[in-house]
Amino acid sequence: MTEFKLDLSNGELLIGGKRAVLHCNHYNTFLQRTLVDALGDKMVEVQIKISQKINTEMLRNLTQGIEDKKSAIEKIFSALGLGILDLNDLENGRSTVSNSHYALNCYYKFGNQKEGVCLFATGYVRAAAEILTGQKKDFFETRCISIDPDQNEMCVFEVRT
Ligand SMILES: [Zn+2]
Repeated sequence: MTEFKLDLSNGELLIGGKRAVLHCNHYNTFLQRTLVDALGDKMVEVQIKISQKINTEMLRNLTQGIEDKKSAIEKIFSALGLGILDLNDLENGRSTVSNSHYALNCYYKFGNQKEGVCLFATGYVRAAAEILTGQKKDFFETRCISIDPDQNEMCVFEVRT
């Protein structure tokens, strides 16, 4: 598997051969919120599709030649600090993320959310589905920790039919 490469001489991080920038959950929650507040709900799907596009390309590069692509894709998600991704039920149109500090951060910053806030994770799950099944599937977040952390122990992503 292609490794994450950090060049300390210039501060450049390469993931799957692409330059990457990592931001903390505080920055990302405000960036996502600002885009939706300024440009409306259409920015929800735009952000999901951007995530899907970059993650499909990155995951294809990182999993080339790997037999157990599912495990690799789950490990990469964790390595990115996004939580614990479970793709075991992907063939049935379902995936989960536990320990999402991003979702919990949205809850603590903005209160109970009406809908799922894990747009990057949604795009990542769509990318994983495309790579693992060979088909594009429109996963949506149907349960999110940010809606009510007492009721939702994990974020759930499902294909809408
Ligand atoms: Zn979520």
